[in-house]
Amino acid sequence: MLNDPRSHGLWENTAPEPPTTSPLDGAMSADVVIVGGGYTGLSSALHLAEAGSKVVLLEAKEIGFGGAGRNVGLINAGMWVMPNDLPGVLGPVHGERLLDLLGNAPKLVMELIDKHQIACELERNGTLHCAVGADGLKEIEARAAQWAARGAAVRLLDAAETAKRIGSDGYTGSLLDKRAGTLQPLAYARGLAHAAVKAGVAIHTSSPVIATERNGSRWMVKTAKGEVSAEWIIVATDAYSTGPWEQVRSEQVHLPYFNFATVPLGHNLRQSILPGREGAWDTKEILSSFRMDQAGRLVFGSVGALRNTGLAVHKGWAKRALKRLFPVIGNVEFECEWYGQIGMTDNALPRFHKFAPGVVGFSGYNGRGIAPGTVFGRTLADHILGRLPEADLPLPLTSPTEPSFRALKEIWYEAGAQVAHFADARL
Ligand SMILES: Cc1cc2nc3c(=O)[nH]c(=O)nc-3n(C[C@H](O)[C@H](O)[C@H](O)COP(=O)(O)OP(=O)(O)OC[C@H]3O[C@@H](n4cnc5c(N)ncnc54)[C@H](O)[C@@H]3O)c2cc1C
Repeated sequence: MLNDPRSHGLWENTAPEPPTTSPLDGAMSADVVIVGGGYTGLSSALHLAEAGSKVVLLEAKEIGFGGAGRNVGLINAGMWVMPNDLPGVLGPVHGERLLDLLGNAPKLVMELIDKHQIACELERNGTLHCAVGADGLKEIEARAAQWAARGAAVRLLDAAETAKRIGSDGYTGSLLDKRAGTLQPLAYARGLAHAAVKAGVAIHTSSPVIATERNGSRWMVKTAKGEVSAEWIIVATDAYSTGPWEQVRSEQVHLPYFNFATVPLGHNLRQSILPGREGAWDTKEILSSFRMDQAGRLVFGSVGALRNTGLAVHKGWAKRALKRLFPVIGNVEFECEWYGQIGMTDNALPRFHKFAPGVVGFSGYNGRGIAPGTVFGRTLADHILGRLPEADLPLPLTSPTEPSFRALKEIWYEAGAQVAHFADARL
């Protein structure tokens, strides 16, 4: 995408084509303008159009250019915050609503994939949150107990069962979440775009929104060569926000995250490494994630940016860490490498903003945006269609506020990950 091999890597190489789109040129009118062609924007577009609304979606670059085309592809249920802590952080009403919505969000993703026959390598075999040491085990035990008490399909696996499923004895246990799964993230975004176009959405790519203007009861949404008049604007720009909603970007701290994909593994390795094809990640502070794609490539990721000295440091670390975790893998070659920016909020929870009358958006998924973005897109559609009043939304209304020392924290994340991965060479 955009001639940068380190932006979308494997996903760009293996995703089906997006729908044919062109830049906005001239004036249009719609009920709703959606800004951003990731999961949030595409899901709200699809749900609105299916309900009969006239929708124009404007994307600055390409469908899935942001996090949607770069991520690991873990369809997670819930957030990082412990289930029992959520009502304390958000208040009991919003806390319970959010738990319920996000706990069921992977189901919506899978239903949409089925309904629209989206070819995106969906695996419904769950995810494994792998415990490192005694502390990691304590954490997943608590998480498992809290979700189980809410009736979620989760199970705690001991070290032996974990070793069998992962193909490595590096973990003290794991939390199997049967609600979750994996997919090819860019293929899912492009599939949503096809479904949205079929439902009547006009998608314009290479069309960054540069300004908006109030005109009576309507908004004029402007790009370099065109404008759309609409009653509502959905801001679905999240961590890659540019233009009028820079505040969405600046209320987040960017955490860089990279992935390497191996060449397709041979039959024997596929039988021993993740034979059940669950998605996996660990409990370390600088976490690692790993999953298979459909062709048997192992996608291995961690915190860091593949630029400057980071490229060699993280690549060296990834080779060593993979060999340590899966000694049978040997000197495996990487076929692709890429990285992106995860938008983290100060309480690790997403945000609902109303930027002006009729201008709304959800953002800040803290590295868990596939299922939340999809379900929040539908939530925005329901809100605009008058089916879900503001008081019944899953998050309270807040104003974007910039966290203190944001720039410093971003430098620290990028440099700190390099230091940690470099230091690991000496262990
Ligand atoms: C490396 C990485 C790994 C991740 N791993 C996972 C994972 O395994 N599981 C998971 O659930 N989540 C994961 N995430 C998070 C997930 O990708 C995001 O939360 C998700 O993509 C957010 O969706 P979105 O539609 O809100 O925003 P995005 O997908 O970021 O889309 C926003 C879009 O808005 C466009 N835009 C911005 N400004 C404008 C403008 N002015 N005009 C027009 N368009 C504009 C951008 O170009 C972009 O395409 C990961 C993220 C990264 C970066």
